Amino acid sequence: MPTPVKLLLASTNAGKLREYRALASGRDISVDLLPQFQDMPGFPEDAPTFAENAAGKALHYSKHFRRDSDGIVFADDSGLVVPSLGGAPGVHSARYAGPNATDSERMAKLLTELRGKTGDARKAHFVCVIAAAGGRTIAIFSDLAEGTIAEEPRGRNGFGYDPVFYFPERAKTFAELNEAEKNEISHRGKAFRKLMEYVTSPGRSHIG
Ligand code: IMP
Repeated sequence: MPTPVKLLLASTNAGKLREYRALASGRDISVDLLPQFQDMPGFPEDAPTFAENAAGKALHYSKHFRRDSDGIVFADDSGLVVPSLGGAPGVHSARYAGPNATDSERMAKLLTELRGKTGDARKAHFVCVIAAAGGRTIAIFSDLAEGTIAEEPRGRNGFGYDPVFYFPERAKTFAELNEAEKNEISHRGKAFRKLMEYVTSPGRSHIG
């Protein structure tokens, strides 16, 4: 029997944990929140790229993680990129309309910025970068989901910008897909499947 791989997410986000657990179900992989996360010094997530933020968090928290404990620490950074807006909301996706704004306010701001724009100007992609670290070593996995920004929100599933992210291959917004359908094609689903392949492969000992 293969030894189960234990992944520890450096986050307090229960929604992310739920998505990652759904993605890992049926595999010999467990996903939990990093146990001492809230007692560790925080990591400022203010780099200009998703990769730097994900890598920085994974390295930082894995260094503070007790090395005698078992498990691989991982962290992610994700967001929505609209090239015609110079890449915005980008790494600022969560704070795009201010620190206390709601998802609806962030979507409203985006739709206002794109008012009157058509065709390629509405192209967008979600990005997810996942980094798994073991103190001084790191492995990074990323992927995209490509679509366009809809004229108005549609659908009730998912979170964040999902209601305005139209995915042409399914002719639906991400918020009109169910969780399994979104996981199959989403930036996060695709990046996490790469991580799962890696940690279950024989070379995984470099980060474990
Ligand atoms: P973070 O990865 O926790 O920094 O969050 C980035 C932000 O990007 C989220 O708060 C959402 O606004 C947005 N975002 C990232 N992934 C998704 C997604 O799958 N759907 C909708 N919004 C997303």
